[in-house]
Amino acid sequence: MSLPVPLEQVFTYSLPETLQHRVQVGCRVFVPFGVRKLTGVVLATHDDAPDIEARDVLRLIDEEPVFNCEMLALGRWIAAYYCAPLGEVLRTMTPLTGELRSSKMYELTDAGRDAARQLMLTADDKDPVMHVMRLLEGRPLTAPYIKQKVPGAANALRSLQKKGFIQIEDVQADRDPMRASAERLRVQLLPGDTGLETCATGRKLPKWERELLAYLELHPGSHNLAQLEPIVKNASQSARSLARKKLVELTTESHLPLSDPRPIRTLNPAQLVAYQEIEAALRNGKFQAFLLQGVTGSGKTEVYLRAIDACLALDRGALLLVPEIALTPAVAGQFFTRFGDQVAILHSAFSDVERAEQWRRIQAGTSRVVVGTRSGVFAPVRNLGLVVIDEEHDASYKQQDTPRYNGRDVAIVRAQGANACVVLGSATPSLESRYNAEREKYRLLHLPDRIEQRPMAEVELIDMRREFLETRKQATYSRRLLDAIAGRLEKGEQTMLLLNRRGFASFVVCRSCGERLECVNCSVTLTYHRRDRRMLCHYCDYASRVPSICPKCQSEYLQFIGIGSEKVEDELHQHFPTARIARMDRDTVTGKRHYEKILHGFREREFDILVGTQMIAKGHDIPNVTLVGVVSADVGLGMPDFRAAERTFQLLTQAAGRAGRGNIPGIVLIQTINPDHYAIRFASAQNYEGYYEKEIQFRKLMRYPPFSALANILVRSEKQDHAMALSAELGGILNPAPEGIKVLGPAEAPMSKLKNEFRYQILIKAASRKRLNELLQQIRRFATERKWSPAALVIDVDPLNLI
Ligand code: ADP
Ligand code: ZN
Ligand code: ZN
Repeated sequence: MSLPVPLEQVFTYSLPETLQHRVQVGCRVFVPFGVRKLTGVVLATHDDAPDIEARDVLRLIDEEPVFNCEMLALGRWIAAYYCAPLGEVLRTMTPLTGELRSSKMYELTDAGRDAARQLMLTADDKDPVMHVMRLLEGRPLTAPYIKQKVPGAANALRSLQKKGFIQIEDVQADRDPMRASAERLRVQLLPGDTGLETCATGRKLPKWERELLAYLELHPGSHNLAQLEPIVKNASQSARSLARKKLVELTTESHLPLSDPRPIRTLNPAQLVAYQEIEAALRNGKFQAFLLQGVTGSGKTEVYLRAIDACLALDRGALLLVPEIALTPAVAGQFFTRFGDQVAILHSAFSDVERAEQWRRIQAGTSRVVVGTRSGVFAPVRNLGLVVIDEEHDASYKQQDTPRYNGRDVAIVRAQGANACVVLGSATPSLESRYNAEREKYRLLHLPDRIEQRPMAEVELIDMRREFLETRKQATYSRRLLDAIAGRLEKGEQTMLLLNRRGFASFVVCRSCGERLECVNCSVTLTYHRRDRRMLCHYCDYASRVPSICPKCQSEYLQFIGIGSEKVEDELHQHFPTARIARMDRDTVTGKRHYEKILHGFREREFDILVGTQMIAKGHDIPNVTLVGVVSADVGLGMPDFRAAERTFQLLTQAAGRAGRGNIPGIVLIQTINPDHYAIRFASAQNYEGYYEKEIQFRKLMRYPPFSALANILVRSEKQDHAMALSAELGGILNPAPEGIKVLGPAEAPMSKLKNEFRYQILIKAASRKRLNELLQQIRRFATERKWSPAALVIDVDPLNLI
């Protein structure tokens, strides 16, 4: 069996007699491991005597396997490809880990088990006591589950408990006076997003009520209160209290308000061609990958929806992955309206219990359409026929902890295993994906125009060097941008301003000695946040007050350098005192709900201007935005990363895509000091093809992906000389580099200290994937033999981020 520990091997346990015929491959079991108890996954059962004495499995968790062969194979592939321990991969793949912890479980005591076995001989199914015992023979269960299965379970449980035959983990009083009638009540948000407005006015609601509201926003439609109970704690009480506050509506089962079905749109010719190709491939029933490259606003979503319809019509399930930030309640709602109860939403904001609930619905086949973020790729969709990956280039598909998988690439492998079709959608495909399309590994589908022939926004570059020469002032805003904003304000149209940096100033520097104020845990400068008069580390959240004198030379000349989103907003207020301005970045947005609230307010025209970091560039469709300003396009270009240009191009193109999505054409103004850089030039021309040609040449010349397989190896330790010594040891075995391999480093990582750990890195470029993998396995064996701590070595295959 496989255990969630950072070790490569599998473990052998013996099965007590009671479990022998019930344990199947793919089930989870609870086992002793050292002094701990862990949840493991059964990979095989056999009768061969192990060479060491095997300890007993403590109990079986699942009657039905949580992993079928297909998913186990996928897990093995991930473990091999990303060089990660299988146990950790399997743990990542199931969301059910929290289930045991977070709910009350009834289980048989030893006495209960004996009694059950004896009584079994005279078993009478109609006796609730017997029925409950038989259920519990299998595994510990929650009260709601038992009560759902067995009529009269409550009395039976009580009597069993009195006899000492069962025990309860995590005992709590479960008396809910309103419970009785909850069975027939349904709850839903009042139309008109009242809930959101309430939060906007800052009215403080009790925790459980907020949770219920959050749940209802993420799951539009009405819900049976009793069924909500196991998912949202205190749902009944909260619902009644919220109903009194006029935030939700309670209705009885009999007259359900039905939501309007979404009108089916006529596809335009390009959409139709794309759809027909996908539909034909679906009917073909074999693996086929498509790259749906459509400019912003070309109607990709409608193609996805149609393809999902076609997939369902063939009686197969569908999976849609979206980037982390894109799965807002508004998006979830869109799918809910289209597919009703068939859709399951897997949201990272969900609690463990809630995710487990959705997971079970999917596994049972109740939900055949799944919309989720990265880890949604592991949803146990039955008879999977289609996987759609929206904004396939998005960096949030890459997990930044072990296993460091890319959800997009895992999705492709999964689809291959399931004979399903894959659609990768983007306006700015990653170089890798577009290259695969060029080589005809993927079929390229184009949506060249915006819906209804709306023009692409006009883009203008503003050379901030010239601006400086002409005005002799170091300004955040050019005159052109200020004029344009003033124009929108006059006409009642809206503006989005993008800046890729939080905070007020970028950093604080001493003008006398040049000292920059840095984080004590990380080798980065602290960012000044004026609103709370603090300097913050954006990596570890270390905060400190701004000193009045330089800590190094005691001079008083501390200077604030650079611009952050807080400062951008601040200056904007000075230029336009009456404008209504909202800011959206990680400082102002504290959760998914908050994020949605600001967006919602902006969509409803409660604000004239929205200032934000890259959060605002993604996917939003707000018709009244006719001006998008990019305050500084140069921020990302300076990063020591070969993807800097790609990221800049994507960000600018996506940002430009936010303008002019309604009936009024939009303009985009990009301020830059690098107007000749190809990423900026091609983004302003919204010319993906030109950019791709240029970028692919660069990658080829430098042997970067897709022309090589890349891995980044990070060696970490709290002691600098230790980290350096370990990286030198590794460097030793990589020198001379094996054939077909290029080794860069070991060198100090660009972020040489992070959260109090010193970091060295080695970048490995390999001519073939196979060679890379062999070498990485060798490195891992080396670290194991030398007894390195598991945390000291990080292997990142296909890294997206090199700093
Ligand atoms: P993309 O994801 O490609 O940027 P969207 O899917 O957001 O574009 O579509 C842009 C807008 O066009 C949306 O408001 C969508 O509802 C609308 N739309 C999509 N397809 C059609 C169609 N065939 N006819 C009319 N409107 C459409
Ligand atoms: Zn100084
Ligand atoms: Zn820090």
